[in-house]
Amino acid sequence: MTIAPLNMLFSTDYELFFGSNDISEKEILIDTTDSLMRACENLEIPLTLFCDITSVWRYKDFNLNEYPELVKNQCIDAIKRGHDVQTHIHPHWLNAVFENDQWNYSTEDFLLGNLGKNDLECFEIVKECFTRAKNDFEDWIKPIAPDYECIAYRAGGYGLQPREKVLLRALKESGYLIDSSVNPGMKMMSDNNKIDFTNVVSKYNYYISEKSGLTNEDSEGIFEVPICSTKMPLSFFVYEFVKRKYSRILRKFNLIADEDLSWKKRGRGASSSKSKLLIKKSPLMSRLDKLNERWYTLNLNHRSDPEVFFKTAKYYLEKYPIDSRKPVFFAILTHSKTMTDQQLKYFEKFYKKMKRYFGDNLGVTHYRGVANHLRSPPQKSNR
Ligand SMILES: [Zn+2]
Repeated sequence: MTIAPLNMLFSTDYELFFGSNDISEKEILIDTTDSLMRACENLEIPLTLFCDITSVWRYKDFNLNEYPELVKNQCIDAIKRGHDVQTHIHPHWLNAVFENDQWNYSTEDFLLGNLGKNDLECFEIVKECFTRAKNDFEDWIKPIAPDYECIAYRAGGYGLQPREKVLLRALKESGYLIDSSVNPGMKMMSDNNKIDFTNVVSKYNYYISEKSGLTNEDSEGIFEVPICSTKMPLSFFVYEFVKRKYSRILRKFNLIADEDLSWKKRGRGASSSKSKLLIKKSPLMSRLDKLNERWYTLNLNHRSDPEVFFKTAKYYLEKYPIDSRKPVFFAILTHSKTMTDQQLKYFEKFYKKMKRYFGDNLGVTHYRGVANHLRSPPQKSNR
């Protein structure tokens, strides 16, 4: 895979619903991921599956072996088809209990950094998770692809906090090279998730470590591939607002399509069942806050509008000067469980538009491609 000046990493957070799963795991995750892989293959894009291995461990603990087997086979299949598989951890699974035909878990376990009574205990639990995940994926995949390595991580719920320094040390010591959890500008405060990425390093890519934390960069450590997200200009916010406000009228005249919500038959997320916002605000305050933040992330599940995806990516990629000797790596994401045919069509439109606009400056790769690039000797400068 050749590295271009701008490299898109398309990834799916490969996981079940946290609230309820209303149809089979195969229909929720395996079939949807298969469609996603096929769509990517048609566009010659590698897909990275950030596989929530913790659910697999817990299903096995309760002797529920069909789902773990399906996941393992799909991960192997993905590699055979040129895609990538890396680690995603949702720690609420670690102590989840299966009773009366359903999973129960505590939302207090939602973030890795909250596990353990102190930093040392947390470090030990987290390092064991990272190492076990890496070993499992390599045990599954190396027999068919000997050079496969599990080297990248995305935190469940983007939870690289709290205790980010502990988590970064555990990642490094477990043999990971890359993190892809940071959404620059994101702030999320609910009773199960607390994320603040408003002060992260102002660069496309950088190293972070147990010394630097998330607000400074280090000369070595874990290489960050942020998820493409940015504060948008006011004009864009107004355009989006008007479009949303009048969407019912626009739909009536077939100017925009109905949003495909068929995924709602598959299950429900924790956000709609167990979590509530911690800070209560008046409607006016939250509107003013939104106007001030104007923050967008390139999550295909969030906004069914290829124009919005494109404008977000363009704005993000024109934010900092590009150094031709330093390729840019940026992630865009989706979730298999909420993927629909409509989103696949919009993704195709978005990607084709990106290709038209950025031309040969835009390439695609996966996380093993980034690792190979980081390990390759630096190119000689022409100067
Ligand atoms: Zn997740």
